[in-house]
Amino acid sequence: MSKLNFTGVGMTSQRTRDRLVQRLCDQGISNYEVLDVMRTTPRHLFLDEALAHRAYEDDALPIGFQQTLSQPYTVARMTELLLAGGPLKRVLEVGTGSGFQTTVLAQLVDRVYSVERIKPLQEKARERFRVLGARNVHLKHADGGFGWPEKGPFDGIISTAAPEQIPEELVEQLAVGGRLVIPIGDNQSQELTLVEKTEDRVITTVVEPAFFVPLKSGIIR
Ligand code: SAH
Repeated sequence: MSKLNFTGVGMTSQRTRDRLVQRLCDQGISNYEVLDVMRTTPRHLFLDEALAHRAYEDDALPIGFQQTLSQPYTVARMTELLLAGGPLKRVLEVGTGSGFQTTVLAQLVDRVYSVERIKPLQEKARERFRVLGARNVHLKHADGGFGWPEKGPFDGIISTAAPEQIPEELVEQLAVGGRLVIPIGDNQSQELTLVEKTEDRVITTVVEPAFFVPLKSGIIR
């Protein structure tokens, strides 16, 4: 777990952040550690300056390349689902994007391996991890639909982009006892899905409706 350096980052008022956390509680987020990390992680650092003033609203916000920083509720919910099976050592994230979800995870698990297909987004996120001192984050520029086989198996996998079906490779790279949290569907309708791997089977549970950008194949340099 990384203890991050949030000093001197121009924190928005405590009241604004407390209000956001209150809203997350009201929406059913109950993991205290997750709520605490959501309260202290400066979401405005993950946005362009022109949008930073909206960072503590519970909305998804654009980060360029037609991609979005997920809504705080979504980040909190996925993180809570991922952690519900106990402490995690190795976590794979598909879709680094702004790096906000990555930064939340970096404070709650031992190591985060994050794959992003759009190079300029990855580079921006890399700089943020450097500034914050997130040393347990490892990045790869690739199509994350194939996971990161060399670093697996993972005891948690999270995808912040939606494929139409559960990618086989991700299930394969899940350790026994591991959990995969992933939105599944097209641009009409998606379901946030939990996949649990046991000794002898794979259990899939639909959690709630979801609204994510699509998981795309190939990479952008
Ligand atoms: N977790 C991010 C959300 C970004 S939106 C955040 O907190 O900001 C989803 C991200 O998934 C985008 O950056 C998009 O480029 C990326 N993505 C889509 N398909 C991908 C793929 N096949 N491999 C890796 N990243 C992918």
